[in-house]
Amino acid sequence: MKNLESNLEKIEQLAEERLSENLAFQTYLKTQNSLKIDEIVHRLYKEVESKIDCRDCGNCCQNLRPIASHKELRQFVAEEDIESVMYAESIKCMHHKNKVCTDYFNRPEECRLFPYLDQDNFISKTYSAIQNYRICPHVFNVVEGLKAELKWDYKNVKNTKK
Ligand code: SF4
Ligand code: SF4
Repeated sequence: MKNLESNLEKIEQLAEERLSENLAFQTYLKTQNSLKIDEIVHRLYKEVESKIDCRDCGNCCQNLRPIASHKELRQFVAEEDIESVMYAESIKCMHHKNKVCTDYFNRPEECRLFPYLDQDNFISKTYSAIQNYRICPHVFNVVEGLKAELKWDYKNVKNTKK
């Protein structure tokens, strides 16, 4: 893959511009063979992960989407702040300092698994992938790489609707 994008502002801007495109891609993926998509996603993720270091980013830890239960939120937010973040769009984890996780070896399961690109059945997780596309350079580049490998072009989708 050439020209990986790691600029967080640029990624956010492109995610906004490509909202309809990504929803159409999500619909398209549902029609594809799950094993074939997983093979591509896993391969692309390995490549992207080797080129974009999480230690230069840390954006997921700054932009957690609040999880429903108090129990889970307690892992990321101080007890006195839980009520106020329950309905926030995103929260910054209390363990995140200077782009580093200060409790890395005890980090919750969700943190270990994020951004879920090495798991099977990507097709069933496209909703969260499209959400994470906005904040995570790994997801952004893997999704863009997937569009390229599948030769999927939004222009063609728009033209067939005319
Ligand atoms: S626990 Fe660590 S890895 Fe998880 S969100 Fe907080 S800072 Fe990030
Ligand atoms: S998982 Fe994604 S958002 Fe989190 S630090 Fe790594 S590249 Fe950044």
